Amino acid sequence: MKMIATNIQRFSLHDGPGIRTTVFLKGCSLRCPWCSNPENLKPEPEKYIKDGIEGTYGRYYTSDELVKECLKDRGFYEGKLATPDLWKITKAEDIEKLPGGVTFSGGEALLQMESLVPVCTSLHKLGIHTAIETALFVPEKNVRLALDNIDFFYCDMKILDSERCRDIQKGDLELYLRNLDIVMSSGIPTVIRVPVIGGYTDDEENRRAVKELLARYKGKFLKVELLKEHNLSESKYKSLNMKMSYIGVSDELMECYKAEIYEMGMQVEICRI
Ligand code: SF4
Repeated sequence: MKMIATNIQRFSLHDGPGIRTTVFLKGCSLRCPWCSNPENLKPEPEKYIKDGIEGTYGRYYTSDELVKECLKDRGFYEGKLATPDLWKITKAEDIEKLPGGVTFSGGEALLQMESLVPVCTSLHKLGIHTAIETALFVPEKNVRLALDNIDFFYCDMKILDSERCRDIQKGDLELYLRNLDIVMSSGIPTVIRVPVIGGYTDDEENRRAVKELLARYKGKFLKVELLKEHNLSESKYKSLNMKMSYIGVSDELMECYKAEIYEMGMQVEICRI
């Protein structure tokens, strides 16, 4: 089965434990107005024009081709390979002990989980750790498939009001909550990522809902990352003739949010990605 990806980023330090090879898979079930990867929304190749030059976002890979691409970076994490049993960490402090490896990002990487299974199998045979970044708005069977094939999860927590989630992100919040529960019950090492976006996720009500949901799963995830979004994607939006909708938030609000989560007895940090 083929997968479609827009980019394979090498030596990535922000997409999982250690040095990662990040595969950006194309196609997403959501339409977050602040998305920093607009080229990964549609599930098919897309023409763009950048600085007067035409190109295409996205190309198809067989699983063998994708594994071959990922293995080009094997040298980055060689010497840190381990058996999957050692990858089942339960404390945030132990994240650093994990080896580097391959991270599937997007778009929504879980939409292509069926095709990723043979890729994960090949990588695991070579002792290579796998991680996935997901918003969890996908069919339940894709999540269950990931539990058997992925070693580390990054799960987003965004707008937690059903109507606003549907109107703004085009997502079914009930589906998200069911999938989050599956991941939280799995015991797979997970980091919760909370994008803090002005006008969308930063209001008091949403912050309260996020904290309540975090409290429900306290002890079932390793740590919380509060993401302060950047606006570096403007050129990508321009290249696709799309409009960007992004409002930054203050450092004070980020620090205050962080302190509130810390007081709940959770590991939390602010990340700028
Ligand atoms: S889930 Fe991620 S990739 Fe999809 S629209 Fe939202 S921000 Fe963009």
